[in-house]
Amino acid sequence: MTRVSSTARAAGIVTLVVAGLLGSAYVLGRSLIPDQQPRDTPGVTTNADGPHYADQPSLAEPGGTPSASSNAGPVETGQDGSGRDAGGDKLFGAHATTGTPRLALTFDDGPDPRYTPQVLALLNEYDVRATFCVVGENAQNHPDLIQSIVDAGHTLCNHSWHHDVGLGTRSADAIRSDLLRTNAAIRAAVPNAPIVWYRQPGGAWTYPVVSVARQLGMTPLHWSVDPSDWDVPGAGKITATVLDQAEPGSVVLLHDAGGNRQGTVEALRRILPDLTARFELEALPTDPT
Ligand SMILES: [Zn+2]
Repeated sequence: MTRVSSTARAAGIVTLVVAGLLGSAYVLGRSLIPDQQPRDTPGVTTNADGPHYADQPSLAEPGGTPSASSNAGPVETGQDGSGRDAGGDKLFGAHATTGTPRLALTFDDGPDPRYTPQVLALLNEYDVRATFCVVGENAQNHPDLIQSIVDAGHTLCNHSWHHDVGLGTRSADAIRSDLLRTNAAIRAAVPNAPIVWYRQPGGAWTYPVVSVARQLGMTPLHWSVDPSDWDVPGAGKITATVLDQAEPGSVVLLHDAGGNRQGTVEALRRILPDLTARFELEALPTDPT
């Protein structure tokens, strides 16, 4: 090796190292900048079928910036789903169980005219009351379904305006206005509807989002059983996971919107006979303590 080529190579290495350091500083800088600007909501896509939500951390943030979801730990994917696995420190005090021997079914991301009526019919068939964590824009678009949910004796939970997984990283004012806008859409459909629960999309809890929800009179609600039905694993797998993991006090996470939920509907048809034989099922109360 000649001196020239050796020098050139050394210079090349120095250049790479400097570039790497600059890149790291850039990423670090980005991660330290408070995220005040609205950004594309991770996990939300829109197509001809309407909005698709995914109750799990996004696969990647632009620029590799850690998302609120990833900061919050492995929430809402398989292992995430479980409040037991997520750990109390990641939940910021959000309820993951009913606190009683009773089991609660929760349905997220709706209402959706394709699936919510099917879910309501099955729940009615088994005389089961459940809790619906509705997305504000969907409540605004389908007020009749909000009315149907309430008329059937089910209870409501605020699930943010646009299923914003990163909502917890925004300012308290931004969080407050999102939650209030969602409640207003629900109450435009059903005036005086009790809305005493809030579920953060993606389970990406932060102290500010928990704090604002509580200030607005809503109790943060997580879950303890997650069959990851958002990932469309098929009715058989959804059924098996729920029946295997259900225990007294479980809060079961299911979805009646946000994508193709026919598998969830079919699973529910199989789950209800078994669950109702083993547990008392309840809608989460409108007077949580
Ligand atoms: Zn959701």
